[in-house]
Amino acid sequence: MDCTKILDTLKSVIGQADNFVSLHEPTFAGNEWDYVKECLDTGWVSSVGSYVDRFELMLAEFTGVKRAIAVVNGTAALHVCLILAGVESGDEVLLPALTFVATPNALSYCGAIPHFVDSEEATLGLDPHKLADYLTEIAEVRGDECFNKKTGRRIKSVVPMHTYGHPVDLDPLLDLCERFKLVLVEDAAESLGSYYKGKHTGQWGRLSALSFNGNKVITTGGGGAILTNDEELGTLAKHLTTTAKVPHKWEFRHDMVGYNYRMPNINAALGCAQLEQLPGFLQRKRELAENYRQAFVDVDGVRFFSEPEYARSNYWLNALLLDDANCDKRDELLTLTNGSGVMTRPTWTLMHKLPMFNDCPRMDLSIAENLERRLINIPSSSSLGGDRA
Ligand SMILES: *Cc1c(COP(=O)(O)O)cnc(C)c1O
Repeated sequence: MDCTKILDTLKSVIGQADNFVSLHEPTFAGNEWDYVKECLDTGWVSSVGSYVDRFELMLAEFTGVKRAIAVVNGTAALHVCLILAGVESGDEVLLPALTFVATPNALSYCGAIPHFVDSEEATLGLDPHKLADYLTEIAEVRGDECFNKKTGRRIKSVVPMHTYGHPVDLDPLLDLCERFKLVLVEDAAESLGSYYKGKHTGQWGRLSALSFNGNKVITTGGGGAILTNDEELGTLAKHLTTTAKVPHKWEFRHDMVGYNYRMPNINAALGCAQLEQLPGFLQRKRELAENYRQAFVDVDGVRFFSEPEYARSNYWLNALLLDDANCDKRDELLTLTNGSGVMTRPTWTLMHKLPMFNDCPRMDLSIAENLERRLINIPSSSSLGGDRA
């Protein structure tokens, strides 16, 4: 494997920019200034104003769910999804070891114990077949609940994550949830605009979480959303994320311990402008991915990761996979590219290697550990797509 050849191939796709090319930059080319200015002019920047409702309706329409609830960030969205999925203190929750730290953090906020699951190379996400074999061995269904035979704890839920926007293989995962009585909660933080067998990600779980952090497909500065097809859960999610205030003309009455997780109006204004441009962002991101795919066909020792065959991915972050034999050259490639103005990054350190999750239960994680050594993210901003001649 020739690192210089890889750098040259990256540059052939993204152009010979003078400036540093970052991993993912937002584009503000629509109504952002107008909508945000309206918030400032009217003084409605915070918990009053129409953009939150508008953003929620636009999100529900785009993703095809019945209810979307805008919140302060993706981690908060995940937290509330897990509460409403019935996750309680002392439960175990299954999730991939290859994910961003927000996933195990959110379930720790519920007092639950992360139980780490291996990934598959075809999707970079949780492997439902390996998980089924594992649960057959370690779990036991009693009534309509699942228990870990070794720890005695209830296993309540499974939280797949659509890595870099590539959908997990959801059909076998849904079968498994049925068989082992697990509630499916999707961490769809990275997959706005990604479809599994024609249906948007985030529609498959009982509840799902999106993120609009600055580096995601669209951004609200910081933000997130809860998606659900269950009207009742949607109403409860709205209530719980807005301090559980009982509507009244002047009284302050709250009927639950709620959260102040509501998205401010000024962030939602940004979100409306960004969502209007999402189809264009997705088109350019898919063009960029196709350009990378073609450019890397003839480069030895490395492969451009393409969407699983059943999926239509948003290609949020593009990824190269080094051949097994070349994983010892990963850091050399990272040093060369970052030193030459092209930002690249390794994937996340696997969750079970972090000190706070060291002792958590886990299955064999050999595929995730292999992927951790071989994955490299490359520049992915939508502005790099399209015709750059
Ligand atoms: C971005 C992200 C989140 C949520 O992050 P926030 O910064 O809290 O919006 C959750 N899970 C994954 C996998 C993510 O990439």
